[in-house]
Amino acid sequence: MYATNYHRASSVDEAVRLLAGTPEGKYVSGGMTLIATMKQRLASPSDLVDLRHIPSMKGIRVEGRKVTIGAATTHAEVTQSAAIRAVCPALCELAGLIGDPHVRHMGTIGGSIANNDPAADYPAAMLALGATIATDRREISADDFFTGLFETALEEGEVVTAVSFEAPEKAGYAKFANPASRYAMTGVFAAKQAGGARVAVTGAGGDGVFRQKAMESALAANWSSQAIANVTVDPSNLMSDLHATAEYRANLVKVMAKRAVAAAG
Ligand SMILES: Cc1cc2nc3c(=O)[nH]c(=O)nc-3n(C[C@H](O)[C@H](O)[C@H](O)COP(=O)(O)OP(=O)(O)OC[C@H]3O[C@@H](n4cnc5c(N)ncnc54)[C@H](O)[C@@H]3O)c2cc1C
Repeated sequence: MYATNYHRASSVDEAVRLLAGTPEGKYVSGGMTLIATMKQRLASPSDLVDLRHIPSMKGIRVEGRKVTIGAATTHAEVTQSAAIRAVCPALCELAGLIGDPHVRHMGTIGGSIANNDPAADYPAAMLALGATIATDRREISADDFFTGLFETALEEGEVVTAVSFEAPEKAGYAKFANPASRYAMTGVFAAKQAGGARVAVTGAGGDGVFRQKAMESALAANWSSQAIANVTVDPSNLMSDLHATAEYRANLVKVMAKRAVAAAG
């Protein structure tokens, strides 16, 4: 790891100002991805601006069925939130499947979606829930936020401050986890909203998280695992790597989708 300067911001404005004054600074939240990358010398930011102690970026608010989660909220806090569990238990389940206890107590939802690892869990939930990502400058719909492998719509120096969504009628998440890292080899989040369904897949797409629209149509007509039994999953846009071929992942998409719908009930 190379030497770096550490700054602890106490407000979003201060964080933005601090970063703008650095030659090659980066925000750090839980550090669960960034610090590991720095230790491997794959990243060498001149400065780190810590977002985890900014009060306005922390905490969970549930008003009616509207859920708002501060970007610096840890995965453990989401798993343990009784307020979220009351309206969208699938998100608590998902957060509880991330990594191990250490990762869940340090890693944050803002860091996870800003990083947009193609095998991360939260991007699938954000996309299937039709979430809105709030930043220091604007609001971005999840459909526009995730733009590719480790790529998002965030501009230089832009901070994710919170995510929000309307709790669906039903939702479920199922993942086939890599046994070593716990990242998703394939994970599917399915949500039933009034008049429709949204299904998002992580861990499998050659271009990152994506919506499975054929399954959405099938589930809109009939919300049941059987409804997706006849949907064909095309492997041509899926990832092949040392863990699984695209064809294997295509099968996993279907199996995980059925499990997600069954879990939603
Ligand atoms: C052993 C291990 C297992 C893991 N398993 C899983 C898993 O099963 N599923 C899963 O989804 N993830 C997994 N992760 C990743 C984990 O969820 C991380 O917490 C997450 O990827 C990054 O969140 P973080 O808060 O640690 O971000 P950091 O590492 O601090 O930052 C990551 C990137 O996001 C940027 N950033 C951070 N916060 C913001 C913000 N608010 N606005 C703008 N940019 C920001 C940083 O500049 C950096 O580029 C695992 C990690 C480890 C080490």
